[in-house]
Amino acid sequence: MFETLSDRLTSVFSSLRSKGRLSEEDINATAREIRLALLEADVALPVVRDFIAKVKERARGEEVSRALNPAQQVIKIVNEELIEVLGGETREIRFAKNPPTVIMLAGLQGAGKTTLAGKLGQWLAGQRNTPLLVAADLQRPNAVTQLQVVGERAKVPVFAPEPGNGVGDPVEVARRSLEEAERNNHNVVIIDTAGRLGVDEEMMRQAADIRDAVSPDEVLFVVDAMIGQDAVATAQAFLDGVGYDAVALTKLDGDARGGAALSIRHITGRPIMFASTGEKLDDFDLFHPERMASRILDMGDVLTLIEKAQRTFEEEEVNRMAKTLASDDDFTLDDFLEQMGMVRKLGPIGNLLGMMPGMGQMKDQLASVDDKDLDRITAIIRSMTPAERDNPKIINGSRRLRIANGSGTEVGEVSGLVTRFFEAQKMMRQMKNGNMPGMPGMPGM
Ligand code: GDP
Repeated sequence: MFETLSDRLTSVFSSLRSKGRLSEEDINATAREIRLALLEADVALPVVRDFIAKVKERARGEEVSRALNPAQQVIKIVNEELIEVLGGETREIRFAKNPPTVIMLAGLQGAGKTTLAGKLGQWLAGQRNTPLLVAADLQRPNAVTQLQVVGERAKVPVFAPEPGNGVGDPVEVARRSLEEAERNNHNVVIIDTAGRLGVDEEMMRQAADIRDAVSPDEVLFVVDAMIGQDAVATAQAFLDGVGYDAVALTKLDGDARGGAALSIRHITGRPIMFASTGEKLDDFDLFHPERMASRILDMGDVLTLIEKAQRTFEEEEVNRMAKTLASDDDFTLDDFLEQMGMVRKLGPIGNLLGMMPGMGQMKDQLASVDDKDLDRITAIIRSMTPAERDNPKIINGSRRLRIANGSGTEVGEVSGLVTRFFEAQKMMRQMKNGNMPGMPGMPGM
């Protein structure tokens, strides 16, 4: 996600970092590079213009000329302006005073509405809500079944027209779903509506009719981030045709360049509320502008990583790991193995890298580590004796051969792993001494 943009901006800043005072020419050159990076990321032209004008104006001002480290100050400004263009604060759902809170989804076919209904349902249920999904997409033959499948996976009930009861009127289905919600104490109703392949008047009218019938508390426009500039044009068309309160951006896991995320707020005046980052139900979260900016600038998104870890791990595991980190005992191969097991539980390794500070630059190396490699590493460590795990320094040539045979790997892999472990151990020692290696602006860089 946003990799090219992130790479470009990181390299702009690395050349800036070597400078002490910034001349007018330095500022202009930096602004030019940022401009190119944004255009390449498919950010809408008016947004790029505004962004650059703001960054330039601030970069010429006192906050930079007086700063001890002017380059760092410029990065700070870019970070703040990115947060701003992404919407500033995280926008939360506005719940109705009198339930049910009605959330209506609108967007083109294939944008990811039905999937999003399931994700949102599961997410809300996880926060002690009792959502109801409503199948008001009666256009596509399979839409109702698809929502029922998604609902089942998300363990959220679905309200749909009775089969065999004629085609059904989506406005009527939406209206009746509110009665159903009251009867069965659903505090949130999520209405999935029909989309078309392109912007279409009939579709807009139907969505507007549903909207008028149920007066939603939130209309969410769902849009595929991968369609780049088209996302912005579609967003504008839906704003005129149906109107909406906020945006849910889907498919941010793909090769989305960032254009949609960085343009929509500025062009439509509507905030991005949710980000969807995969086909699985829990690839979904509130959109946090601050964390997103941080990821784009390769400053890491440790908060999301921690939250994900909290959702994934048992409290006991987290406590044990925290104890390992805090204790004076040295980091052992067993700790290494346990840590690796925890990392694997979090999901495919590639998804995690973007969340770690400074990892952007290492991602090519790290991307070559896949889950299969982790299986081999686990096998190698498991083939070691307790004494070897405790003190890998004793692993000599004959031991390496035995371990390689026992784990079905090569001697070279065993040596490589031991070397990597010593590096990790060194890093852990530094961390325990309060020097976080690789963190921008921290000692140890
Ligand atoms: P709808 O027509 O708007 O209801 O769209 P669907 O929910 O049917 O989604 C269209 C396709 O996009 C499906 O194949 C989904 O699995 C896929 N999809 C939805 N959201 C995401 C996402 O965040 N990432 C990825 N990679 N695929 C997604």
